[in-house]
Amino acid sequence: MSRPRIAVVGGGLAGMAAAWALADRAADVTVLESRRSLGGRAGSFADPRTTRDVDYCQHVAMGCCTNFLWWMRQTELLQHFRRETRLTFLAPGAPPSTFAATPWLPAPLHRTTALDQLRFLSRGRRAEVRRALWRLMRTPPHSTPGTMGDWLRQQGQSDEAIERFWDVILVSALGEVARHAAFAPARMVLIEGFVAAPRASDVWIPQRPLADLFGVRLAGNLQQRGVLLRTGVPVRSIQQSGAGGFQIHTPGDSAAFDRVVLATAWFALPRLLGGTPLQHAVDNLPALGKLPAAAISGLHLWFDRPLSELRHCVLLDGLAQWLFRPDFGSVQAAEAFEHYHQVVVSGSHSLRGMPDEQILATVLEELKRHFPAARQARLLRHRLVNDPRAVFSIRPEVEALRPPTETGVEGLVLAGDYTQTGWPATMEGAVLSGFRAADVVARSLAFQPVPIQSPLRRGRLARWLIE
Ligand SMILES: Cc1cc2nc3c(=O)[nH]c(=O)nc-3n(C[C@H](O)[C@H](O)[C@H](O)COP(=O)(O)OP(=O)(O)OC[C@H]3O[C@@H](n4cnc5c(N)ncnc54)[C@H](O)[C@@H]3O)c2cc1C
Repeated sequence: MSRPRIAVVGGGLAGMAAAWALADRAADVTVLESRRSLGGRAGSFADPRTTRDVDYCQHVAMGCCTNFLWWMRQTELLQHFRRETRLTFLAPGAPPSTFAATPWLPAPLHRTTALDQLRFLSRGRRAEVRRALWRLMRTPPHSTPGTMGDWLRQQGQSDEAIERFWDVILVSALGEVARHAAFAPARMVLIEGFVAAPRASDVWIPQRPLADLFGVRLAGNLQQRGVLLRTGVPVRSIQQSGAGGFQIHTPGDSAAFDRVVLATAWFALPRLLGGTPLQHAVDNLPALGKLPAAAISGLHLWFDRPLSELRHCVLLDGLAQWLFRPDFGSVQAAEAFEHYHQVVVSGSHSLRGMPDEQILATVLEELKRHFPAARQARLLRHRLVNDPRAVFSIRPEVEALRPPTETGVEGLVLAGDYTQTGWPATMEGAVLSGFRAADVVARSLAFQPVPIQSPLRRGRLARWLIE
């Protein structure tokens, strides 16, 4: 075969990771993206109302996201992330709780002792949570087909422990509360992200808008590696052609490729393949389009002053779950310096039908309870971004429908956070899926395999204690 032609359909993180991994091989790689810029759900948009570039939503990665962080390091983008080793939890009427690992203790003891720092939980509740965490370590991932909520109930966890600890962690990491989340991925996030290794729970927060980070810098890196980026080009259909190749149709154009990585979101896949001869290439295609989704909302706020010294914190007992104060976004405008803040509400189904003004008023009241400065602060601009299909809902029935990388048609592979990665919908899941898809393509063309990063190495005690 002469230099093979590889198409990547979809320029979110999964597609970009696949293209990046295939770019240094002897192949021509083209990314076809329907939007005008790359990044997919991890992107920003120019908001005419606030006249600002607004991220769809603040994104954070954790230390256990080994593929994402490795890739950011390789592309020299990790310098634009801030690493935080401690989390501050704020609950009305309680002193702030700083949740940090005990550095001189080996994993998993480093984290279980840190539970004592959660002062918004009574001593009894902390003991209850610690008990369940130990049992979770000893419970194999696929030992229960139900939800994390079912398992927590079996362990005798109280409503308060579930709502004020387990749900707080799970909804941030999975976009779903314990009673909906499948046990295996919920356990994976809790074990890999909190107890298995010392740096696993570090939080990595972008210090540049996502459009700049992924849409400009990462896209530039792909171009430097020789990837052809075609943005504003929606793929309309894909056909198998002779000799094992594919014909890809875009408005006013059609091109031949030897391999295709389909890296769209789950809900775009049936639109692309449904009703075509390729519809049987992916099992459960019609069901995939209807996967239940979890909503995430970002409320972007510009005040005349900073509300807090904290750069980010977890907020309890209200609508608002996280407050971020990133380095970017604050600007000197005509009248005043505008201090940018973002409040995130994950698993925000409860906001459905609530008028935007009511959401804003509720969040502002909550901020006043948490931060004295908010009582005097003047709100200069705001923008609410609701994404009802932000992430697929990681329910047990969804886990069973997630497709593998390889399809029933040779040369056609899937990438995307919804594929079988073991991860919930995250940047790590997307990047891992992209690397895996690239690896399948690379092997089929007799290229070197694509390096895929292992989870963080567990120490001896963690290996002994964790199933
Ligand atoms: C509000 C919100 C908050 C989030 N917070 C976090 C977080 O804090 N941490 C974290 O790790 N993850 C977070 N996520 C999840 C993370 O953004 C996603 O898991 C990840 O970006 C998915 O990447 P992807 O490439 O699989 O899919 P996508 O980003 O959806 O990319 C698919 C791409 O395919 C393109 N496409 C679709 N159809 C076609 C077509 N026919 N032709 C050409 N192109 C097409 C789309 O335009 C899109 O660019 C969040 C997501 C949202 C929405």
